[in-house]
Amino acid sequence: MLFKLSNFAFQKKLSMLIHQRICIVLCFVFLSFGASSESSKETIQTNNTNFVVLVYHHVSSETPPSTSISPEKFEEHLTYLAQHHNVVSLEDALTALKANSPLPEKSVVITFDDGYANIYDNGLPLLKRFNFPYTIFINPEEIGKRANQLSWQQIKEMAPLGTFANHTIGHLHLLEIQQNENEEEWLMRVIANIVDSEDLIEEKIGYSKKWLAYPYGEYNNALKDKLLEMNYIGFGQQSGAVASYSDIGALPRFPAAGIYANLRTLKVKLNSLAMPVKSLEPQDTVVLPNQMIDTVTLNLYETPDMRITQMNCFYNGESIPNTIEGWSANIQLNLLLSPGRHRINCTAPSNSQKGRFYWYSIPFFVPTEEGTYLE
Ligand SMILES: [Zn+2]
Repeated sequence: MLFKLSNFAFQKKLSMLIHQRICIVLCFVFLSFGASSESSKETIQTNNTNFVVLVYHHVSSETPPSTSISPEKFEEHLTYLAQHHNVVSLEDALTALKANSPLPEKSVVITFDDGYANIYDNGLPLLKRFNFPYTIFINPEEIGKRANQLSWQQIKEMAPLGTFANHTIGHLHLLEIQQNENEEEWLMRVIANIVDSEDLIEEKIGYSKKWLAYPYGEYNNALKDKLLEMNYIGFGQQSGAVASYSDIGALPRFPAAGIYANLRTLKVKLNSLAMPVKSLEPQDTVVLPNQMIDTVTLNLYETPDMRITQMNCFYNGESIPNTIEGWSANIQLNLLLSPGRHRINCTAPSNSQKGRFYWYSIPFFVPTEEGTYLE
């Protein structure tokens, strides 16, 4: 890893040069032939901005198992990452994403949600040993107030490798509409919460990244679009890799704690590639209880490297049939979703990189009959 780090700047320059040359060649090809064929404009080559974001919560053996990773297991993850991947900061990953410039091969970003003190106690010594950057999404009003939360002093100490970003004030279910509140009032209230949270973080630590991790990963199009308009970048908890064509209003992250901490299954995710989804129907993430979802359609960019005919989709570990028409996949769900959070995961193998899969997850959030969202 030390060798890799010392050569990182050189590799980055070299790959940028190569990338620029590829761009020049590709631009020429597009200029020459793009106008003659509609579909060739939409062809996507696997590009090298691809990265994976992991999300952890507690680093402890004594906290709720579903959101915890033991310090021993966390050390195992970091050791594996040091040997097989390049851990990059969220800042570097997002800069590359926006500029469509290359990242080191198999880049991974480490994030934590909720700002627990056990990240400082149990995670930090390991992160320091490996010299890995990380981002923690915090609820700034809780910082230093609750016993299980980080203090502002600890946050300052974590500055060399740690970056801190927004997870709202009060960790609320953002999609919950209060009684007597119309949609416009709801949006104004949740945006005000997010802005207050961002302001408080800036006041305490002196910077504002405008990165928001949606509590529970819950968002809808109205909220996402408003945040994009305000230059925020959103992070969900649906799975998948990130690339230049990803939706920066709700970037995917792979949960890596609890049942997802097993390295055998995590390895496939760490090696995943962002599936080039152009649009999906239905578009929104919120489904009413007792509302049938019959089909979801993924419209994809033409991607020669992706073996679309071998696309597999799953819901709760069960395979879901799909039909492929050109570069569209119709996933036949035929599901009545119960209140809670649901994800449909789709993968398709890469032609050129054996054992690597394009990955996309479609989240659905279903409120209760009363309009509340479950924990
Ligand atoms: Zn959270």
